[in-house]
Amino acid sequence: MTYPIKGFNPHTFIDWDGMLACVIYLPGCNFLCPFCHSSVLATAPDSLKTVPFEHIERFVQEKKGWIDAMIIGGGEPTLYKNLPDLLKDIKNLRLLVKLDTNGTNPQMLEDLIRQGLVDYVAMDIKSSLEQSNYDKATGVSVDLAAIRKSIDLLLNSKIDYEFRTTFVPTLIERTDIVNIAQAISGAKKFVLQQFDPKDTLDFRFAGIKPHAPEVLNQAVSLAREFVENCSVRGI
Ligand code: SF4
Repeated sequence: MTYPIKGFNPHTFIDWDGMLACVIYLPGCNFLCPFCHSSVLATAPDSLKTVPFEHIERFVQEKKGWIDAMIIGGGEPTLYKNLPDLLKDIKNLRLLVKLDTNGTNPQMLEDLIRQGLVDYVAMDIKSSLEQSNYDKATGVSVDLAAIRKSIDLLLNSKIDYEFRTTFVPTLIERTDIVNIAQAISGAKKFVLQQFDPKDTLDFRFAGIKPHAPEVLNQAVSLAREFVENCSVRGI
């Protein structure tokens, strides 16, 4: 089958703890987060060349067992209806699979978990689960029920996962971080990510100064009341 793969990173050590992984990027997104760093992939994927899956297959086979995992990022990968077929082909290469998702397609997420096609899910929670906050953080009108369903699926699943939030000044307050932690109370892992003002979808966010590391550390220590395994990434 031909897959619409719009980017391939052959090596990363930093996107899945303890794993040497490759990353596949799938096109399109149903959010328009103003702080997004993948704006071409999200909004104009047709301008990017397609990477043939055979090329990726050959690369992994030539590494003869050195690669542990494949990360599926985007864009929003769960928009792609043939994602289960792609993941089956990746599993045939004897790789573990990590899915990055914004949580808007709980049906696909459930199918992938049920079929054993994902080993780790990183789900973004863009803001506290209040309509106006979430819409502001994503640039669209969000189906919050779908987000909540994806959260529940992960909280009740046996697979490994993390929830992650980018602490974007002007979009998110410390109280939002605490509200998010409360909404995922008892989760296996919550990561608070530093905002990076480089190459943002909305150019105005390039002028926003990231919070000082202490601000992230303080927010994380408050979130630990609800999720024990909380950490900061990117400072
Ligand atoms: S940051 Fe937002 S707009 Fe960009 S790919 Fe992720 S969910 Fe889509």
